[in-house]
Amino acid sequence: MGDSLSDNVRYRCSSCGVEYEVALDRICCDCNGVLDIVFSPSAFPSSLSGRGVGLSRYREAIAIDIHRLDDAYLGSARTPILPMGGSVFVKCDYIMPSGSFKDRGAQVLAALSLRLGAKRVVVDSSGNAGAAMAAHCARIGVPCIVVAPASAPAQKLHQSRAYGAEVKTVEGARSAATELALSLASEQGTFYASHVENPFFLEGTQTWAFEVWEQLGDAPAEVVIAVGNGSLFLGAYRGFRYLFEHGLTSRIPKMVAVQAKGWSPLTGDLTHGDAKPLADGIAISAPRRILQILKAIEETGGEARTVDNDAIRRSTTQLARHGLWVEPTSGAAWAGGPGHRPEGGEPIVVSLGGAGFKATGGS
Ligand SMILES: [Zn+2]
Repeated sequence: MGDSLSDNVRYRCSSCGVEYEVALDRICCDCNGVLDIVFSPSAFPSSLSGRGVGLSRYREAIAIDIHRLDDAYLGSARTPILPMGGSVFVKCDYIMPSGSFKDRGAQVLAALSLRLGAKRVVVDSSGNAGAAMAAHCARIGVPCIVVAPASAPAQKLHQSRAYGAEVKTVEGARSAATELALSLASEQGTFYASHVENPFFLEGTQTWAFEVWEQLGDAPAEVVIAVGNGSLFLGAYRGFRYLFEHGLTSRIPKMVAVQAKGWSPLTGDLTHGDAKPLADGIAISAPRRILQILKAIEETGGEARTVDNDAIRRSTTQLARHGLWVEPTSGAAWAGGPGHRPEGGEPIVVSLGGAGFKATGGS
């Protein structure tokens, strides 16, 4: 068996096009551009029956050895799609092992850290990505350091500590946490498991689209996803593109990104001032992949919508009263969704990506 990672999978700068080997010390391009993966996925077999419902069900489309992927398996598996009346559905990623969709990407990054022989993993996160990485590092037995802004929700940091991660909090701007993580990552044998920088994270989140396709029998007309750094949004887009290019779907859904009012770089509304975000998972002023997010919106005829805190609170409560206890970031997605649509219309899927326990006392 060949060395599939170094032979067939490379990094390419999304800005200047320079290619690099996939290596522990390659975080972004020398020009500071964000990296994409160069990889030619093969087609799915004509039937996926007989395979499990974990990420490796879609192994042909994921640029990592399946054995490593299985080593990092913590139970992230096909999440339910529930009808919410008419043609509107929710996809319940909040029931993932660590309570958010980030487990999809974290499993792939953990597999990559094994593949690259990392001695420890460093991640900077204000919450769910850190917890997901900490959980998967515990699974593979590699030490994990989570660097978080001091303002990060206590519950999310508590969760990372519970998994055994060392949590370092940093005062000041969110970027200060990134700087410390990068400095720790420069030590030999350290893997910087950033869901923002590392494109392998999107290899994991693209499985969201594959599941939706299997569950509905085709790609839906529209998907609605709360967007901070856009790691689920871009992964889902990548997944639907794969399906479309392999002739498995008739369309790529209209991609709708939802952000909080005042915290929306996609619509140019960054008027939050000193206000503390209610939807903390998507309060990102300058997402690294913003150009890719805007391109996905444009190419699919999608749009970026904003919702205010009252709408987020109302939606979060409304979902809970239907038995779906999610964090405000997911409430934002529902608030930015279509509301009710009549039966028989084209299906619309709203992502509920984070569990309610993540944000106790957060409203
Ligand atoms: Zn570059």
